[in-house]
Amino acid sequence: MKSDTLQYLPLLIFILAAMLLGFIWYQSSSLEKVYLNRIKTEMLVRGKLLKPEISKIMHREDRLKALNKVASAVAENIQTRITIIAPDGSVTYDSSEAAHNMGNHLRRPEIFRAFKGKASSSVRYSSTLSTRMIYSAIPMTINGKTYVLRTAVSIRQIDHILQQARRDILLFGLLVALVTGCLSFYIVRGIIKPIENLKFNAARISAGNLDIKLPIPEKGAIRDLALSLSHMAEQLKNRIGQISVEKKKRDAIFTSMSEGVVALDMEGNIIDLNRAAANLLDLPDNAVGLSFCGVVRNNELQEFVEMVLNDKETMETELVLFTIQESFVRVRGTVMRGIDNILGAVFVLSDITKIKKLENFRRDFIADVSHEIKTPLTAIRGAVETLEEGAIDEKETAHKFMHIITRHTDRLNSLVHDILSLSSLERKTHNEEQDFATIKISGPVSTAIELCREKANSKRIKIDFEDKCPTCKVKGDCQLIEQAIINLIDNAIKYSEDNTRINVKLCSYRKKVIIKVKDNGCGIPPEHLSRLFERFYRVDKARSRKVGGTGLGLAIVKHIAQLHKGSVDVDSHVGEGSTFAIKIPHDQT
Ligand code: ADP
Repeated sequence: MKSDTLQYLPLLIFILAAMLLGFIWYQSSSLEKVYLNRIKTEMLVRGKLLKPEISKIMHREDRLKALNKVASAVAENIQTRITIIAPDGSVTYDSSEAAHNMGNHLRRPEIFRAFKGKASSSVRYSSTLSTRMIYSAIPMTINGKTYVLRTAVSIRQIDHILQQARRDILLFGLLVALVTGCLSFYIVRGIIKPIENLKFNAARISAGNLDIKLPIPEKGAIRDLALSLSHMAEQLKNRIGQISVEKKKRDAIFTSMSEGVVALDMEGNIIDLNRAAANLLDLPDNAVGLSFCGVVRNNELQEFVEMVLNDKETMETELVLFTIQESFVRVRGTVMRGIDNILGAVFVLSDITKIKKLENFRRDFIADVSHEIKTPLTAIRGAVETLEEGAIDEKETAHKFMHIITRHTDRLNSLVHDILSLSSLERKTHNEEQDFATIKISGPVSTAIELCREKANSKRIKIDFEDKCPTCKVKGDCQLIEQAIINLIDNAIKYSEDNTRINVKLCSYRKKVIIKVKDNGCGIPPEHLSRLFERFYRVDKARSRKVGGTGLGLAIVKHIAQLHKGSVDVDSHVGEGSTFAIKIPHDQT
C-alpha cells in the first residue's frame, strides 16, 4: 500500500522540476531580451553621439591618430569598440584590431542594413574577440560616400550575470521542487492512504470476509465513506446470518421430512430435492440441475410429471416404483407460482408401501380365513340338515352326526383362536416398537415342555430337554415364547409316530439364544420348506386336518420370533425327522 503512494513521488518531483525549468528558461530569456534591447538602444545612442565627431575626424589628414585618441577615451569610459567600414565593406578603422587584418564586413547583418540607410544592431559571436558582442551600426556620409560607424560592446559580463542568475534560480527552483514534492507527497499520502485502506478492505468485504473491522479515519470526507462501508458490511453480515439461519431451518425441515419432495422448473429440470426423495427415486445427491425424466426411469411417473407441468394444475396419483425394491408411492404435484408467472411444480412423494402391504395382507387374510371357515361350516350345516331330516331320531346316526358337529366346532374354535393370535401378533409387528422385560429363556421353554407332556404321553412320545445355557436371558414375552415352543412341540407330536422321542435343546451361539425342537417324525419334502411358515400352508392337508391342525401354527411361531427381533428356520429330511430352531438375540444389558 505504501509503495502505491510512493510510486507517485518521482513523477511529482519531475513534473514540478520540468515546470520550474520551463519557467526559469522563459524568465531568463525574457530578462536577456530586455537587457539586450536596452543595450542595443544605448549603443545606437552612443553611435549617434559619436557620429558628428567621427565624421569630422574622417576629413582630417591625421585621422588615424585622432580616431585612436577618441577610441581610447571611449574604451576607457564605456568599454566600447569602434569600427569604421568603408563603402566597399572593408574595415577602415577598428579600435581593437588592425584594420588590414579584418575581413570584408559587408555581409554582417547590421552593416548590411546600415548601408541601406537604416541604423541597426545585432547580437553575434565575434570570432575576432572570441566573445558574444552587441553591434550597433549607423550610416554616415563622408565626402558624399556612405560609411558605416559601428560601435560594439562585449556582453560577456551580461552573459555571466545571466548565467549566475539562472544557476541561482535553478538551485532555488530545485530546492522548492524538492520541498514541494515532499510536502505534496505527505499531503497526498494523507488523502490517498485512507482511500487505499478503504479500497483494500472493500475488496476483502466483496470477497466475503465480513468479519473485518474497517479502520475509520478521525476526520475528513473519507470518514463518512468508511462509516457507510462499515455499516453496509455490518448490515450485510446480519442479513447473510439471517438468511443462513433461515436456510439451515428450511434444510433441516426439508431433510427430516419422511415424504420425498422434488421441485422442478417448467422445463422439468430438478431445482431441489430432499434426502427422502433421493432415496425413494434412487437418485444421487447431486441430481439438482438434471432433467427429472432423464434420471427417473419410470413411465408412469414421467407422464404424471409432464401432465402437471403442462396442465398447470394440482394432481394426485398412486403408482409403483421399481427402484431398489418395489414400493408403492402416492404422488401429489402442485404448481409453484411466482409473483406473475409459474416457476414449475413441487412433487410430494409419500411411501405407502406399508399401508398397501397391510391392505393386501388384510384382503388375502380375509379370503384365506373365509376359505378355511367354509369347510367346517359346510360340514356342520350338512350334519344339522341331516339331523333335521330325521336322523336325529336314529340314536346311532344322531350320535355320529353330533360327533361331526363337535369336531368341526372344535376346529372352528381353534381356527378362530389361532386367527385371533395371529392377527394380534401381526398388528404388533406392524405397529408397535416392543418394550419387553428381560427374562430367563429356560423358564418358558420348561413350561412349554410340561404343558405338552400329557399329549406326548398319549402317544408314548418322550420329550428330552437339554439346557446348555440355563442363565441365558432375552428381552421377551414369556407367554409368547411359550406359545411358540408349544406350537413346535405340538407339531413334533402331531407329525411323529408313537413311541418316538422329541429333543428340545437350549443353547447359545454368536450372541443368539437358540431353541431347537427335533423330532423323528415323517419329515418335510424340500420343495415345501420355503413356504412352510406362510399362513394356512400345509404340506399334507388331509393329515393336518386329521390331527386338528389349522395351518397357522408355524406362521404364529414366525411372527413371535420376529417380534423378538429373531428368526425361525427348519431343517428336515423325509422319513428322518425335522428340526425347527428359533433364534433370539441375547439380552446384553
Ligand atoms: P398345522 O396346524 O397344519 O400343523 P402348521 O403351520 O403348524 O399348521 O404347520 C404347517 C405344515 O407344516 C403342517 O401342515 C405340516 O404339514 C408341516 N409340519 C409342521 N411341523 C412339522 C413337523 N414337525 N414334521 C412334519 N411336518 C410338519
